[in-house]
Amino acid sequence: MHVTYLPMRWKCGDNYCYILTDDSSTKSWLIDPAYPNDIEDYLVKENKSEVTAIVNTHHHNDHSGGNRYLLSSLYKNIPIIAGKDSPNVSYTPSDEEVIQLGDNIEITAVHTPCHTQDSICYYAVDKKTGEKCVFTGDTLFTSGCGRFFEGDGKQMKSSLEKLMSLPDDTVVYPGHEYTAGNVNFSLSVLGKNNTSLNDLAKFCKQNEVTTGKFTISDEKKFNPFMRLSDPEVIQSTGLNDPIEVMDKLRAMKNSF
Ligand SMILES: [Zn+2]
Repeated sequence: MHVTYLPMRWKCGDNYCYILTDDSSTKSWLIDPAYPNDIEDYLVKENKSEVTAIVNTHHHNDHSGGNRYLLSSLYKNIPIIAGKDSPNVSYTPSDEEVIQLGDNIEITAVHTPCHTQDSICYYAVDKKTGEKCVFTGDTLFTSGCGRFFEGDGKQMKSSLEKLMSLPDDTVVYPGHEYTAGNVNFSLSVLGKNNTSLNDLAKFCKQNEVTTGKFTISDEKKFNPFMRLSDPEVIQSTGLNDPIEVMDKLRAMKNSF
């Protein structure tokens, strides 16, 4: 498999659009192409793959806002795979439904409600090479998670647990480049002795782009929202119950 990231609205939203391509068939999914102006040049001139579906991780305009335009211009007659609230959606996969992309990629829809009720993460496995990755939209960011706009801590906890149950070597592709800001908050919660978090902080200082560089295994080590029983997190929140810890962490991050 091959994943191309296309930055959109850089420095004022830091959104990512992704192209996930099956190497042998060159068929691809175009994931969250929200701002066609920012990516059309690439899609027209450089993209060599055959886009077979537009896919949204959730309905927010900064993820689904390009659906209508792209359907009427570059990609007539292809499906829009997304949750029920996305514009022009033609197909909503059920939780754990598997969809084939090209010859070798199998993609599992992982329903992760909380940021929005229609949030879906897409877990892709290349059956030939064994590569794995997951497109997490605004549910999971590197060392962070999305705001609870349509859900609560209980839902986010169970959604992140679904992602934590994916294989450790699954590469994470989040919907925004928020890592540098997340690291500052995570340091304030996890303390200075978390080696993985310190490594991530160093990486952020040297690299503007962090998407695709970290795995589910890394997240379990440096993401406080995945470490609700970590003594440092318990101390920082002053709470023990994992759901209460999740709600408190989110409230702390919102006002950080
Ligand atoms: Zn969102």
